[in-house]
Amino acid sequence: MIPVMLPMLGEEEAKAVADAVRSGWVAQGPRVAAFEEAFAAEVGAAHGIATSSCTTALHLCLYQLGIGPGDEVVVPSLSFIATANAVRYCGAAPVFADVDAETGNLAPSSVAEVLSPRTRAVLLVHQGGQPADVEAMRAVCGDIPVIEDAACAAGATLRGRPVGAGAVMAAWSFHPRKLLTTGEGGMITTDDAGWAARLRRLREHGMSVSAADRHASTTIVLETYDETAFNYRLTDIQAAMGLVQLRRLPEIVRQRREMAALYHELLSPLGLRAVGDPAHGTTNYQSFWVTLPESAPALPEVLAGMAESGVSARRGIMAAHLEPAYAGRPHIPLPVTEQLTHRSIILPLHHKLSSADQHTVVDAMARALRLEPARP
Ligand SMILES: *Cc1c(COP(=O)(O)O)cnc(C)c1O
Repeated sequence: MIPVMLPMLGEEEAKAVADAVRSGWVAQGPRVAAFEEAFAAEVGAAHGIATSSCTTALHLCLYQLGIGPGDEVVVPSLSFIATANAVRYCGAAPVFADVDAETGNLAPSSVAEVLSPRTRAVLLVHQGGQPADVEAMRAVCGDIPVIEDAACAAGATLRGRPVGAGAVMAAWSFHPRKLLTTGEGGMITTDDAGWAARLRRLREHGMSVSAADRHASTTIVLETYDETAFNYRLTDIQAAMGLVQLRRLPEIVRQRREMAALYHELLSPLGLRAVGDPAHGTTNYQSFWVTLPESAPALPEVLAGMAESGVSARRGIMAAHLEPAYAGRPHIPLPVTEQLTHRSIILPLHHKLSSADQHTVVDAMARALRLEPARP
C-alpha cells in the first residue's frame, strides 16, 4: 500500500534523542530553548514559544488575547477540527466562514460577512501549506487581530518571505502528518516580546521563573504563580528531534514541490485540477489535493477503488460544521467548504514516493474515476 504521508526521519534524529536522554535533562530545557530560537529564525519571527502541540498553541494564542465567554472567533470550517476546538477551549464561539475554491483558505469576503461587534479574532489557516493572503485578510479585519494557524505551513512562502514573518501570532504543528515532526509538538511565533514572555508563563503553570532557568541559576530563586495557567510544555527529547528536523526543511520542501510538479504533469491530460501555488506565494504541498470532476463517483467509492489498486488516498480536508461536535450551530451557507470536503481527495506525497509510485497513484485515480489511464 502506498501511504499518504511518511515522516522523513533518520539516524540523526535517533542520535539526537539518545543524546538528550543521556544528558539527564529530558523536560523543557536547553534543547527547547535552542529549538525555539532556530525555528523562529527560520520563519522570520523574533520569538518562538514551544508547546505540546499546535492545538495547545492555538489555545494559548486566544487565551493570551483574553478571549472568553461571549466572544466570537471567525474560523474556517474547512480545517482540522483543532482550529475550531481551540476557540471553544476559551469558552468563546467559533463562527464559520467559507473558503476560496482555489486555495482552500478563508475568503476575505466571507469573513467580512460574519464579522460582528463580538468578533475578537480571526483564525486564518494556511491550509495544507497553501499560504493564505494575510494582507488581504487584515484589510477586511481592521483592528481585529488575525491569528495564523500555520500548523501545516513550515517552509511555505508569502510574497517572498516565509509564512510566519510579520505574523501577530502564528501557531505551528510538529505532528507526523506535517512536514517537520517531534512526534507531538507545537510552537507559537510572534514579534511581540511582552506577549512572548507571557506565553512562556502560560505554558508552564503561570510560573514567574521557568523550571529550567531556576535550575540553571547559581542563586536561590523562588518562583511565584501569578495566574492559573497550563502545562503545555514540549520536552527536550522532542526538541532534540526538532532541531535535526528543522535542518531538513529546505530539502523536504524541495522534494515535495518536485513531486507535486510531476503530479501536475500527469493529472493535466486527464483534465483534473489540483492545488498549486497561489499568485501571492509558494506552497510546501503539505497536502496535495485534487478536485473530483462532476462525473466522478461518490468520494468513498473513489477512495475504495484506489485502495484496491494499493493506493491510500484520503478524503479532502474535513469540515468541522458537518461533524457531530458542531451539529446545530448556526452558520452562513458554506458551499465551497462543502464542495471541497466532499469532492476533493488528498494524494500520497512523501520522500519515499518514486516517480513510478506517482504513476501508479494517478493510474489508480484515473481507474477509480473511470477516466482513460494517464500514460504519456
Ligand atoms: C494538524 C493541525 C492542527 C493540530 O495540530 P496538532 O499539533 O496535532 O495539535 C491544527 N490546525 C491545523 C490546520 C492542522 O492541520
